[in-house]
Amino acid sequence: MKQHPNTKAVRIQIPRTEEMEHSAPLYLTSSFCFDDAEDMRAAFAGENEDNIYSRFSNPNVQEFIDKMCALESAEAGFATASGMSAIFGCFMAFLNSGDHLLSCSSVFGSTHTIITKYFSRWNIEYSYAEINNPASWESLIKPNTKMIYIETPTNPGLDIVDMEWLGKLAKKHNLLLVVDNCFATPILQKPVEFGADLVLHSATKWIDGQGRVLGGVVVGKKDLIHELYLFCRNTGPSLSPFNAWILSKSLETLDVRIQRHCDNAEALVAALDGHPKLNSIKYPFHPSHPMYEVAKKQMKRGGGLVTFDLKGGIESGKKFLDALQMLSLTSNLGDTRSIASHPASTTHSKLSAQEQQAVGITPGLIRISVGLENIEDIKTDILQALEKC
Ligand SMILES: *Cc1c(COP(=O)(O)O)cnc(C)c1O
Repeated sequence: MKQHPNTKAVRIQIPRTEEMEHSAPLYLTSSFCFDDAEDMRAAFAGENEDNIYSRFSNPNVQEFIDKMCALESAEAGFATASGMSAIFGCFMAFLNSGDHLLSCSSVFGSTHTIITKYFSRWNIEYSYAEINNPASWESLIKPNTKMIYIETPTNPGLDIVDMEWLGKLAKKHNLLLVVDNCFATPILQKPVEFGADLVLHSATKWIDGQGRVLGGVVVGKKDLIHELYLFCRNTGPSLSPFNAWILSKSLETLDVRIQRHCDNAEALVAALDGHPKLNSIKYPFHPSHPMYEVAKKQMKRGGGLVTFDLKGGIESGKKFLDALQMLSLTSNLGDTRSIASHPASTTHSKLSAQEQQAVGITPGLIRISVGLENIEDIKTDILQALEKC
């Protein structure tokens, strides 16, 4: 029976044991046994897919990967201990000394740090294109460019990159296209369909969706994933079976959660639109978004993150956070619980005003990760806090 990817995310399961359990058991084991020397030889020779050691593979981790591949329409995958180890693994497995990476400055903070602070140690070059200016990307491609790396929508700026256009550009110049799909999740967009070679996630965010575990995953073309697997199996950023078990269960509810997060985000945007305390509001599916048309083309819905710019700048931002009664003040996102953050006074406080502007962070920018509480309660808390700043 041909199944919808969302059905596969519910139904894919490692084979039942003789106990006939309904929910998958947890394989907390570091290594796996062999019947005899020949069996063991064949596994180490890569002649079969037998598990050897949990740094290489584990049934719970494989179940999570198989579901992610179904959701992302990808051939193969590898799961990692965090989103950052997925990103670092992609860089290290495919970029050699002398290679050049093309990206843009509004990538996730730690990704930006790897690129700008550590790449030079390994003699890897990079250029940052202007995110909203397609012509700037092509002009920065060099003979040694190997990879284009993007995030869309971006964190926290909610900028959108046109994946169809970039997919064609990568193909024309024979470059690897790697997409961080953390903010949209495969429920809202599938970068593989636009030509991405590798798609990665911080599974810590919407995929877990309940703020419990760290995790990461990379999916994509089989030969590339095999290279990534060999690199990671030797360097060790593997996902723990326990976290994989949690994340695999989480995928069973990903579609329903994301739809409700989107419902709530849309209702919040409608309630805040034109509010006198705000300069602007940003949401991928709001007509005022600079890349609204592109967002509509490549995403099914606008996602669960909303940002707005408070008129009073940095002081208003802090007052807003202090006035909230229900929303959590925490640096995570993609949780059942609504979260507010103020990048200018926290995650991005070390950047200069110019650098903040370059990544779309104004002093009064507030990022809301819209949760699954009743929407009236979310709106009430945010509106009453706006009155106090
Ligand atoms: C959080 C995040 C990461 C890093 O993931 P961790 O699981 O915290 O290591 C990478 N990309 C984006 C877009 C993120 O939001």
